Amino acid sequence: MNIQQLIDDIAADVRPYLAQAAPADYIPALAGEDPQQFAMAVATLDGQLYATGHSDKRFSIQSISKAFMLARVLAVYGDALWQRVGKEPSGNPFNSLVQLEYEQGVPRNPFINAGALVVTDIALSQLGDSSSALRDFLREESAQPALDFDYVIAASESEHGHRNAALAHFMKSCGNLHNNVEQVLAHYFRACSLRMNVAELARAGLFLANHGASPVSGAQRLTRSQAKQVNAIMLTCGTYDAAGEFAYRVGLPCKSGVGGGILAVLPGKMSIAVWSPGLDARGNSLAGLEALDRFTTRSGESVF
Ligand code: GLU
Repeated sequence: MNIQQLIDDIAADVRPYLAQAAPADYIPALAGEDPQQFAMAVATLDGQLYATGHSDKRFSIQSISKAFMLARVLAVYGDALWQRVGKEPSGNPFNSLVQLEYEQGVPRNPFINAGALVVTDIALSQLGDSSSALRDFLREESAQPALDFDYVIAASESEHGHRNAALAHFMKSCGNLHNNVEQVLAHYFRACSLRMNVAELARAGLFLANHGASPVSGAQRLTRSQAKQVNAIMLTCGTYDAAGEFAYRVGLPCKSGVGGGILAVLPGKMSIAVWSPGLDARGNSLAGLEALDRFTTRSGESVF
């Protein structure tokens, strides 16, 4: 398979979709991204990196940070995590308050916002400065010491993040947040604001494709079983309410973010990152989904 040719062709094919979607605007600092941008990168376990489009442009990884934070917390806290958060798809919007009340403050999974806030809370207790720990982890796993937070985006989200604050306060009232609510929110927003490009993101995802062992840093980040668990949750819960459609069309564990990025993992082979800021109705990058669908369909590669 000629991966470079394949992703160059895909970049050309998805161009018509770029005009059909708009960036997220509920975080005002994200709304200004030009929706005409598209980038895709593939990092393989044999050390190759292929990239196309605006692959040098860093964007706000937003909820993709939740997959890495989950991996960090699973590594240090293990299965005790599952006392505090579930592992089932939610079937509700990622920032829904309704289900949380029915379920007494125990979020359905680590990728809805409430679940990610609990994971952040555990990370604060276990790792100290959890957002900096995540940033340092991603610097090592992408081999890019310059990666950093976007403080403007973090501040913008903090200013408008009333729903996340509501989720956090509700969970605190149920005893499922142990640290100070403002502190948990600040670390969550900062982690979401991290800026990476698709090449850095694809590289950083390689430990998930390599059963927990990172070919970039040489570190064993997760056990083989934990890497399977993170990938499984990405497949079933990683793309908001479209996990079924992603499994059907793409057939890979994926985690998306409202910044327009999507990380996809093909265990045993490669990690793929796409970015285009225009989102579909369910909050996933419209061109990103089209690109991943074409990638697995044309290459014949998927987990199925
Ligand atoms: N920081 C965003 C929020 O909490 C992340 C959302 C996302 O990317 O899904 O709303």
